[in-house]
Amino acid sequence: MRLLLVEDDPLIGDGLQAGLSQLGYTVDWLKDGPSAAMALASDSFDLVVLDLGLPGRDGMSVLDEFRRSGGTSPVLILTARDAVEDRIAGLDAGADDYLVKPFSLDELAARLRAIGRRQGGRASPELVHGEISLDPATRKVTRAGEAVELTAREFAILELLLSRPGEAFSRDRLEEALYGWDEGVESNALEVYIHHLRKKLGKELIRTLRGVGYMIPRLP
Ligand code: CA
Repeated sequence: MRLLLVEDDPLIGDGLQAGLSQLGYTVDWLKDGPSAAMALASDSFDLVVLDLGLPGRDGMSVLDEFRRSGGTSPVLILTARDAVEDRIAGLDAGADDYLVKPFSLDELAARLRAIGRRQGGRASPELVHGEISLDPATRKVTRAGEAVELTAREFAILELLLSRPGEAFSRDRLEEALYGWDEGVESNALEVYIHHLRKKLGKELIRTLRGVGYMIPRLP
């Protein structure tokens, strides 16, 4: 999952980038309002964590513009302890959730997973497809009850495809979810990850749509 982190505090931002990367998110970190607005207008993100107090332009106006221009990515806002009005205004401006500083990385991660579930229209935390099951919280994957070892990138692709069965994911979208701005996309890497996933989980799980991309078919 590709996540945009907008936070001007270097300590918090550094900690979040490290912590969220470790949890398997591809994190792009920006530190001011104008560059966040520009990134949201030009790139696509699966999740956005947005601080409200930002230099250049406040997070609320960034969020407001993003929603007005039709941006649908889920947004979690970070607010100061005493700013109840901010939280209300943020939710009304289209935020999906908020956290009050200071907060723990564990709570942020749990809230991001919950947002991801709602996004996919699911109530249960586990992604289940036939004999395959993926738990975003523990990052465990099983096939017919047997644990399957996946690399971080294989896991990220599987999580994305499993979160929307029946939906076709283009190469670009999958690559965007895998790579942030700092990392170049290796050619053929995606095919290699898909090949490994098929080897580990059964070759019928992920379907190739010629000229379109990949999908996990919806089960009848
Ligand atoms: Ca701030």
